[in-house]
Amino acid sequence: MSNRQPKIDHLGIAVKSIEERVKFYEHVLGLEIEHTEIVESEKVKAAFLNVGGTHIELLEPTSDDSAIAKSIAKRGEGIHHICYEVPDMQSAIDKCKAMGMRMLDKAPRPGAKGKLVAFIHPKSAGGILVELCQTENSSCPA
Ligand code: ZN
Repeated sequence: MSNRQPKIDHLGIAVKSIEERVKFYEHVLGLEIEHTEIVESEKVKAAFLNVGGTHIELLEPTSDDSAIAKSIAKRGEGIHHICYEVPDMQSAIDKCKAMGMRMLDKAPRPGAKGKLVAFIHPKSAGGILVELCQTENSSCPA
């Protein structure tokens, strides 16, 4: 597992309406929504589309006070974050902290698809909101 090439797990895209935005992916790219879920802790609905193994995560706010709603209000719809897969979340967080990077999550927490995730503050990551998610070891082939 440690020799695996790291990959981009998904690109998070903030949208006002998944139903509206998914049309392009379905009709032009021929993709289908693979997985949808409401992430209560984030107050968002997330829809995942598989693009060659990396996913597009369309994020639609379910409440006006969700981070995604605020992001859309401030910057409009668009790319919200990049998520990189890491084999060991706690170790990745510790390395970030040791480099003086500002973590939005000091400890791993459950995110979409039940994966452990942690976010790095954009100020510490070149202006990009970076999500780390832990590689799934076995159960889920997706
Ligand atoms: Zn994400």
